[in-house]
Amino acid sequence: MRSGKTKDPMGKYLMETYSRLPITMRKGKGSWLWDTEGKKYLDYTTGIAVNNLGHCHPMITDAITSQISKLIHTSNLFNIENQNTLSEILVSNSFADKVFFCNSGTEAVEGSIKLARKWGAENGGKFAVISTEGAFHGRTFGALSATGSEKYRQGFSPLLEGFHFTPYGNPEAIARLAAEINPCAVILEPVQGENGVVVPPPGYLKQISDICGKSDTLLILDEVQVGMGRTGKLFAYEHENVSPDIVALAKALGGGMPCGAVLATDDVAKHFTPGAHGSTFGGNPLATGVACATIETMLRENLVERAGELGDYFLGKLKEVQGKYPEHVRGIRGKGLIIGVEFSDSTFARNCFSVSVKNGLLVILTVERVFRILPPLNTNKEEIDLAVTLIAKSIEEVVSSG
Ligand SMILES: *Cc1c(COP(=O)(O)O)cnc(C)c1O
Repeated sequence: MRSGKTKDPMGKYLMETYSRLPITMRKGKGSWLWDTEGKKYLDYTTGIAVNNLGHCHPMITDAITSQISKLIHTSNLFNIENQNTLSEILVSNSFADKVFFCNSGTEAVEGSIKLARKWGAENGGKFAVISTEGAFHGRTFGALSATGSEKYRQGFSPLLEGFHFTPYGNPEAIARLAAEINPCAVILEPVQGENGVVVPPPGYLKQISDICGKSDTLLILDEVQVGMGRTGKLFAYEHENVSPDIVALAKALGGGMPCGAVLATDDVAKHFTPGAHGSTFGGNPLATGVACATIETMLRENLVERAGELGDYFLGKLKEVQGKYPEHVRGIRGKGLIIGVEFSDSTFARNCFSVSVKNGLLVILTVERVFRILPPLNTNKEEIDLAVTLIAKSIEEVVSSG
């Protein structure tokens, strides 16, 4: 075995599952990343909505270093103190009574679907699940079966049985289908992230929650991307004063350590009896210890409220840019610090994206024509102003290059 500096700088032995930028990051601090050439970037990708406290926050570094010298992993053969603390924090700040820990978003969705199926099996044998077109719920077979975009599903059939799709943002379609198929659950994202930051009409979640209540159907919210403060509430469902039955969490939960969770009410959670579900790594002392420190820091520094305020500020500034380039910027939308800038076409968007990276601003190009912007929740107005300036500059450069 060799060690030390690789002779394979671009990873030719890796499976080609990602179309990555040819940039290697070396270090990060707050909202900033530096690559191996020493170039500095304003990182508004946050590792895809993971690094809510920015890079290398001292509280996270401390939590990691203090935990790794004590205990990293024991498995769930034993009681795990950090899991108990984290579940207590999550329960006392949400609708939930009980928590199950896993390691990723797709596992949190998988656990949510399994829990709903178990509940359905013990409530008259219901198993169908209603999802939404354009939804992204993850890459494993259960989560993929709930994912509404053909581009993720293609080539993997047969997927799980019993999944049905309705247009996102249309509660009547869900009511009609629920009356027809007697589902065990409806699953949806409060804001569709991967689908280009699609924000549903106000009242949508409330209407769906009412439909679920009337038809004895569980409401599963996939808050893997928008949970943990990103939208200006700790959980996005709080904007509409609804009470879901199950919520899937991951991404920002672990402060950069892999950590996912299934939150549920007692009534539902009691259907997970010993042996019904599990995970070797799930909720290990390191991941849950860092997650505790992350949430505590976020709450202590009022970052959730701040995400809402900064999001409004950011949206306002971006609308000014849209006003200058109305034929190139088709839409600006978002909730808190998940923001979408939709361009007129994918070629223009791709060019703007390349120029933006060159100019030192990192965002995510989603559904080919939308900049999905995911700043850390502790960014500030100066950094947002810079991001807006760099976006406007990128548009200007692409426009003037013809
Ligand atoms: C990212 C994401 C997932 C999948 O999370 P992974 O950790 O990549 O498995 C599921 N649902 C939503 C809404 C997501 O944004």
